[in-house]
Amino acid sequence: MNTRPRWDAIVVGGGHNGLACAAYLARAGRRVLVLERRARVGGAAVSEELHPGFTYSVCSYVVSLLRPWIQRDLDLARHGLRLIPLECSFSPYPDGRALARWDDARRTHDEIAAFSARDAERYPAYGAAMARLAEFVKPLIDRLAPDPASRSAADLADALSHWRRFQELPRGLRAQFLRLMTASAADFLDSWFESDALKAPMSVSGIIGTMQGVRSPGTAYVLLHHYMGEIDGHYRAWGFARGGTGAVSEALASAARAHGATIRTGASVSTILYEGSEARGVVLEDGEEIAARCVVSALDPRRTFHGLVGRDRLPADVNAHLDRFRYRGSSGKVNLALDRLPDFTARPGAGPHLAGDIAIAPSVDALEVAFDEAKAGRWSTRPYINVVIPSLSDPTVAPEGKHVMSCFVQYAPYELEGGAHTWPRHREAFGDAVVDTLEEYAPGLSDSILHRQVLTPWDLEQEFGLSEGNIFHGELSLEQLAFLRPIPGHARHATPVPKLWLAASGAHPGGGIMGAPGALCAQHMLRERAL
Ligand SMILES: Cc1cc2nc3c(=O)[nH]c(=O)nc-3n(C[C@H](O)[C@H](O)[C@H](O)COP(=O)(O)OP(=O)(O)OC[C@H]3O[C@@H](n4cnc5c(N)ncnc54)[C@H](O)[C@@H]3O)c2cc1C
Repeated sequence: MNTRPRWDAIVVGGGHNGLACAAYLARAGRRVLVLERRARVGGAAVSEELHPGFTYSVCSYVVSLLRPWIQRDLDLARHGLRLIPLECSFSPYPDGRALARWDDARRTHDEIAAFSARDAERYPAYGAAMARLAEFVKPLIDRLAPDPASRSAADLADALSHWRRFQELPRGLRAQFLRLMTASAADFLDSWFESDALKAPMSVSGIIGTMQGVRSPGTAYVLLHHYMGEIDGHYRAWGFARGGTGAVSEALASAARAHGATIRTGASVSTILYEGSEARGVVLEDGEEIAARCVVSALDPRRTFHGLVGRDRLPADVNAHLDRFRYRGSSGKVNLALDRLPDFTARPGAGPHLAGDIAIAPSVDALEVAFDEAKAGRWSTRPYINVVIPSLSDPTVAPEGKHVMSCFVQYAPYELEGGAHTWPRHREAFGDAVVDTLEEYAPGLSDSILHRQVLTPWDLEQEFGLSEGNIFHGELSLEQLAFLRPIPGHARHATPVPKLWLAASGAHPGGGIMGAPGALCAQHMLRERAL
C-alpha cells in the first residue's frame, strides 16, 4: 500500500452517528466512504414501510437529545429534517383513573392535584431543579469525555471549569445532584412526591435500556437525561421526526453526501486491513479490500474490538475491560398498524392525550415485579410499555384514517432462561403479552390490529447488530459513562489500535439519537490531524 489510498477515512456503519461523523469529516474536505451492512442507512434510527402505507420507526421512536449544534452545523432542516414536539405524557391506571402531564403548567397542576395536592404544588419546583441540573451536566455531553489522568493545561482548565460550575450551583441543588448520582429513581422521586400515579411513570426514565429496576441504585441519574433534550429551545421536549426517526439518518446522509461523502449500503465489513499495527482499510465479507488513511468504527465496542479487530491485536487488560462492559439488552419493540385509534377506558375517545407518549406503568411495585421476572430470565408478563401514535401528528406514516402505534417494551431480557437463541420460539408469545397488557387499558385494541412487527433483543442483535440487543451500545450506567466509556484510557474516540477511531453510541457521551459521539469523534480527529 505505497500509493496514496483513495479514501482519507472509511466509516464502518451507517447508523446516525457514523453518518454524523462522515458529514463532519467530508465538510472539512476529507474523502470519506461510509460502509453500511443493511440495505438502508440509519441503524437503530430507521423508518421502514413494512406494510403498504404504514411506515414504522422500527426501533427508536422519539427524538430529544439530537444536539442542536449538529442540526445547525449540518443544516439538517435544509436536508429535510422536521421535528414535531410531543405535548403530553399520558398514563392510564388499572383503577380507571388517568394522569396526563401537559405543556401547560396549570392543566398539569390540576391533573396531578386529583391524585395529590402536595405533589401538584411541588411538581414545578422539581422540573426547575432538574432543568437547572441538566444545564450543569449538558456541557459534558457536548465535549470530549473528561480525562482525569491528563496533565495537559487544557484538560486541567476543563476539569476546573466543571468544578467551578458545580460550586456555583445553590447548596440544595448540589445535594440533589449527589443524590441523583447514587440513588435509585424510585428513592429519588420519593424524596419529592407521594403519589404513586405520578412517581411510576416518571421513574421509568431511569431504567430505559438497562437491566435494572426502578429501585436499583444509580438509576436516578438517567432521570436527568430526560431533561437534557431540546426541541426548538424547549427543554425536556420530546418529538417525532416527520417520516419517522429514519428521517434523522436520511438528513444526516444527505448532508454527508452534499459535502462529498460516498455511502455504500449492502456492504458488510468483516475485518480491518493493517499496515504494521495501523488500521489502513477494511475487508468486506465478500473479500473486497478497500484502503484508507484511517478507519472509523461506528459499531458498538464488542463488534468493533472483538469483531473487526480481534482479541489477538489487543492488550490483555483492554480485553478484560471489554469483557466487563455490560450490554444485557432488556428491551423489545412491538410496532402495530391499526385500523382505528385505541380507546382507553380511563379517558375514552380520541383526545389530545393520545398525541403524546402513553406510559403503561401502573405503580412502582408493578414495575419492580416486571423487573423480578426479567432477573429470572423471563420477559415481563405485564411489562412497562411506552406507546406513541405518530400518525396523529404526522400523516405521512399511515393511510388516512389508519394509524401506526409504536410500543417500546421493558423487560425483555436478552438472556432468556433457555438461552438467548430461544427468543425466536417465544417472539410471538412476547408480542401477545404486550398486546394483552394494552388490551386491559384499551379494550378492543386487538381487533383493530392490521399488522404487527415484534422485535426481541435477539432480533435487535441479529438485524441491527446491537450486541445482546442493548439499545445504547452498552448500558448507560455511571460506571460506563464519561471517561469510563467504553474503557478507561480510551474514552476520547481514539482506540488501542492506531488509526482506528470509535464514533458510535458505545463511546462518550453514549446512546440515544444524539449524534454527539459521531460529531465529537470527527472534530477530535480533525484537531489531532489524524487524516
Ligand atoms: C428498540 C429501540 C428503541 C429506541 N428508542 C429510542 C428513542 O425513542 N429515542 C432515542 O433517542 N433513542 C432510542 N434508541 C436508541 C438509539 O436508537 C440508538 O442509541 C442510536 O440510534 C444508535 O446509533 P449509532 O449510530 O450509535 O449506532 P447504530 O444505529 O447501531 O448503527 C450502527 C450501524 O452499523 C451497521 N453495521 C453493523 N455491523 C456492520 C458491519 N460489519 N459492516 C457495516 N455496517 C455494519 C448497522 O447495520 C447499523 O446501521 C432506541 C433503540 C432501540 C433499539
